Amino acid sequence: MLHRLTINGKTKLYGIVGNPVSHSFSPEMQTHAFQHLDLNAVYLPFPVKEPDLSKLLDAFWVMGVQGFNVTVPYKEKIVGLLSELSEEARFLGSVNTVRRTDQGWKGFCTDGFGFTRALTIKGIALQGKNIVLLGAGGAAKAISFALANAGVNQIVIINRTQEKASDLQKRLLDFNPSLNVSVNPTSHSAHDILINSTSVGMNGEDIPAAAELVLSSQLVIDIIYNPPLTALLKTAKNAGIAIYNGIDMLLYQGVEAFEIWTGKQAPVQVMFDSLKKSLAFAQEM
Ligand code: NAP
Repeated sequence: MLHRLTINGKTKLYGIVGNPVSHSFSPEMQTHAFQHLDLNAVYLPFPVKEPDLSKLLDAFWVMGVQGFNVTVPYKEKIVGLLSELSEEARFLGSVNTVRRTDQGWKGFCTDGFGFTRALTIKGIALQGKNIVLLGAGGAAKAISFALANAGVNQIVIINRTQEKASDLQKRLLDFNPSLNVSVNPTSHSAHDILINSTSVGMNGEDIPAAAELVLSSQLVIDIIYNPPLTALLKTAKNAGIAIYNGIDMLLYQGVEAFEIWTGKQAPVQVMFDSLKKSLAFAQEM
């Protein structure tokens, strides 16, 4: 069904702030969602240089911008410019979604809950599961916090830089002292799900973990979505292990942002179709 596009004096403005932002699929995905629900709103990319970040927020306020996403390299830098943070954004010290409120800008991070929501929709229960998490960067932090909230039994963090993994372990234990979290173990006990949240695999690199660790998983998830089948996922797939890539996490972080901004249930299928088209186009380039 063709939805009428309305742009007038009442059109609400949303956007994404980062540098660069030209690669982002969010402007099309979110605008398709607004159109599908006949919401008079558009979503635009706003590339910004760091010294101008705070001026941009002031300009957004004056222009009546209702909300925006934040991407690399400002997810942490923006925190100090906001007047309120959600619980997960406080934990992470990082924000990817901002909503206008009567008091000012409120920051959220939808990456982790986007990740767990995508699994829930697929019928994958996390409660009581033993997880191996590769990586301790921004995405790993967001995912580990969401996993901790989803009642997993154990999280084993494996990261190239030991201090970052130990720092994440400490943060998780500060949040919930009864969590079972270990770091870079020398031997491995049985696990259910292996999650790659490192950037290894984006550029055709080899797998980011020992093959035995991968092959002893029930499910392997790589949050990379381009390429859709990383070396890690190929290895697992060839061994008959269930696999997922990062497209659903990307989708549901956007779904959560849409719902935070509008208070309405997001049109998930419309957003997924938009993402798939953008991704197919990006892969042809
Ligand atoms: P980040 O904060 O820069 O963290 C990068 C992580 O990768 C760190 O743990 C880093 O280890 C590790 N790493 C990088 N190069 C490595 C190498 N050569 N060998 C071993 N480990 C290496 O990045 P991020 O924001 O967490 O993003 C990580 C990945 O997730 C990216 O591919 C990104 O595209 C993807 N992502 C996907 C979604 C989605 O919606 N699907 C959302 C967010 C991110 P060190 O600590 O040792 O440096």
